[in-house]
Amino acid sequence: MRFLPIFLHIRDRPCLVVGGGEVAARKVSLLQRAGARVTVVAPVLCEMLAKQSEAGRIIHKRAEFFPTDVADYRLVIAATDRTATNRQVSIAAQERGIPVNVVDQPKLCTFVMPSIVDRTPIVIAVSSGGASPVLARLLRARLETLVPAAYGRLAALVETFRASVKARFRTTDERRRFWEKILQGPVAEMLFAGQEKAAYTALERAVEQAPGRTRETGEVYVVGGGPGDPDLLTFRALRLMQQADVVLYDRLIAKEVLDLTRRDAERIYVGKKRDYHTIRQEEIHQLMVRLAKQGKRVLRLKGGDPFIFGRGGEEIDTLAQEGIPFQVVPGITAASGCAAYAGIPLTHRDCAQSCVFVTGHLQHGSLKLNWDTLVQPQQTVVIYMGLEGLSIICQQLIAHGMAADTPAALVEQGTTVRQRVFIGNLKTLPNIVKAAHAHAPTLVIVGDVVKLHEKLAWFQPVSERQAAAQAQTSED
Ligand code: SAH
Repeated sequence: MRFLPIFLHIRDRPCLVVGGGEVAARKVSLLQRAGARVTVVAPVLCEMLAKQSEAGRIIHKRAEFFPTDVADYRLVIAATDRTATNRQVSIAAQERGIPVNVVDQPKLCTFVMPSIVDRTPIVIAVSSGGASPVLARLLRARLETLVPAAYGRLAALVETFRASVKARFRTTDERRRFWEKILQGPVAEMLFAGQEKAAYTALERAVEQAPGRTRETGEVYVVGGGPGDPDLLTFRALRLMQQADVVLYDRLIAKEVLDLTRRDAERIYVGKKRDYHTIRQEEIHQLMVRLAKQGKRVLRLKGGDPFIFGRGGEEIDTLAQEGIPFQVVPGITAASGCAAYAGIPLTHRDCAQSCVFVTGHLQHGSLKLNWDTLVQPQQTVVIYMGLEGLSIICQQLIAHGMAADTPAALVEQGTTVRQRVFIGNLKTLPNIVKAAHAHAPTLVIVGDVVKLHEKLAWFQPVSERQAAAQAQTSED
């Protein structure tokens, strides 16, 4: 190791920063976050430091640096843009045995400043020992995405219970096992999901229960898996996907998304056949309840967003009735995903002031929609599950007064590498789609905004390029 990683206690201790520019200002604020009393030596201050000085948050010594300045400080940072001054600071500090850091000059440092992920009281520090600060920063960014924002609150919660857990469990082994279970179980998840009170109560109960007699209850995560592109998952979705014991997924879940669930998790396909909808839905509820009661962490992975034509509400209703802890993670719904990847801004200012989402699912071959509310000026209509009923939908919109040449698009397998976009109008789209043998899932977008596709389409997966190239050759 080039440097020994340590965390320094500097609360209420005097620290010195030499230099008054913006780099110095950043170092000052870092020192302040750790509670230091900061003095800045510099002939002039940048705006940010000047404000701090006015507010009395730093002591400003308006002068050039002089070696004796470093005396009595616990820590010194040189952040001037003059090499000679920086060197002077370093020598002066080292002569007195005071830890010193010179920004961007590792050779003049007795300590280096890491890149940090701050989840106070948890802090992760990454250092390349001066070899490549950029690499350390990139690594830091990756850690930022891995560590939930509420990690600090989790640590704080643990801290409040440390003494009582210590009193409750005699050996360190028992305590370790207890905490491992808590930190990877429902208590932690409740906290991450913002259910602080529930997390506190659950932890309190876990501590009270006699060791070894804790009855395990599992939990259910109802997670929106987005429209297909795995990059569109939320951090939380990904984290829960990687810790669940069982995964219940349906037809809409793209393989690339499913591949991101824990390798050794049990995967259960609960794809619905259209005609057995209600029976199957009941079975899914029962399955979720049964698995959770066995103490499992159940991931209910749904396409798009669980609350948009996803029946997520019914699923959690059952869980609530059964008293099973659950949380819902929103996902990018097909309308957002497909519109973005097809270059169709759903509420583009000049074309649309509102946007409605409807289901085009046929019941006994017909559709019960409030057509008059759909046929409105300056409105975009997005139709989920509209492939089978596409002709009826277009006919009805025309019959209720929408112009037959209103632009309409159908996006097939949106956001995936298999995405295809078909553009037409209410009159032409059904035939275009039929000729192209489009397959579910598809999303229909109706309204003037569809015209923007021609100019704004940016996503060109292989299949679309091939389709375009084929069209080109057949024209030649
Ligand atoms: N909860 C989901 C919708 C479930 S209903 C969501 O929020 O997206 C299923 C319908 O969603 C499909 O019939 C189709 O209309 C639409 N859909 C889902 N994923 C899609 C995709 N990748 N491309 C096009 N349509 C999609």
